Amino acid sequence: MTAAPLIDPFQRAISYLRVSVTDRCDFRCTYCMAEHMTFLPKADLLTLEELDRLCSAFVRLGVQKLRVTGGEPLVRKGILTFFEAMARHLDSGALKELTLTTNGSQLSRFAQPLADLGIKRVNVSLDTLDPGKFAQITRWGRLPQVLDGIAAARAAGLRVKINAVALKGFNEDEQFALTDWCAAEGHDLTWIEVMPMGEIEPARLDQYWSLKDLRRRYEERFTVTDLTERTGGPARYVRLEETGQRIGFITPLTHNFCESCNRVRLTCTGELYMCLGQEDMADLRAPLRASPEDEAVEQAIRAAIARKPKGHDFDYSRRGVSGQMTRHMSHTGG
Ligand code: SAM
Ligand code: SF4
Repeated sequence: MTAAPLIDPFQRAISYLRVSVTDRCDFRCTYCMAEHMTFLPKADLLTLEELDRLCSAFVRLGVQKLRVTGGEPLVRKGILTFFEAMARHLDSGALKELTLTTNGSQLSRFAQPLADLGIKRVNVSLDTLDPGKFAQITRWGRLPQVLDGIAAARAAGLRVKINAVALKGFNEDEQFALTDWCAAEGHDLTWIEVMPMGEIEPARLDQYWSLKDLRRRYEERFTVTDLTERTGGPARYVRLEETGQRIGFITPLTHNFCESCNRVRLTCTGELYMCLGQEDMADLRAPLRASPEDEAVEQAIRAAIARKPKGHDFDYSRRGVSGQMTRHMSHTGG
């Protein structure tokens, strides 16, 4: 018997789960984390078995796409065990896609085992190709390690999508260098507007570079055609006609994408966030730990989906930032 699918109050079917398997990271990107972060006590984290139980409940309830994120997912101890567990849902056909978002630092080690488990694509975050700027923006990261990781992913047969956060005064001058590099290497490229998640040292408004401006710069150099294809996510795509390259834009600020939102986010402590940009969440850890049966968990998931909000309230007006979230992106999982 198949369970009734998860439909929210705005008739959106929830088929996509993003799961943050750790809030820790080996980088400290300036737009994502403060330099001195306090991480969750290890005892608060769900075990890998508990993560398996929760994600499997979502799969039973109709989730077809699972993205593993963090923090940095590949620094969680034993993470391959979790990927192995999720791969059984790929094998059964219940899950159509299992994928991850990573900073790439550990990909040299993990790319082949991940590919062997049936993972086809990986998103790698990379905001600059300049080693000095890379060290500056990630605080702790080193560019060659990430480039080696990306090369390992390609060698293992994984498709790579580069995610670059558009940062004013930081990578504006690299728009075309990054675009050309992705074309030459055969990677897709998506730009992301910086979102007001968590307290960080630099002022958000000083970091914000609108993708409207970025698009205009493409239009000065290329014929830019809007593509109607959507992947069910927030990205909108254009084609640069002269090169045939496809570029994605994730524009929570200049273009609200909430009406087609099909996703929810699970944190490493079992909190379910129905929207990245709202504070409401449901605790799934308590029902999970209360019983070895999954009935209470499934009920808690359904109750949470029944209150998924219409959308976020992020806004950078001239007076400042609104819709600011107290939690960092690494908490909910970007
Ligand atoms: N550590 C992995 C990585 O960097 O890809 C996965 C987690 S990270 C939180 C996921 C994505 O969120 C990355 O592409 C990162 O650039 C993006 N991100 C982090 N903070 C952000 C913010 N305040 N606004 C927009 N994107 C952000
Ligand atoms: Fe770590 Fe990813 Fe946040 Fe950078 S964006 S600090 S790599 S979690």
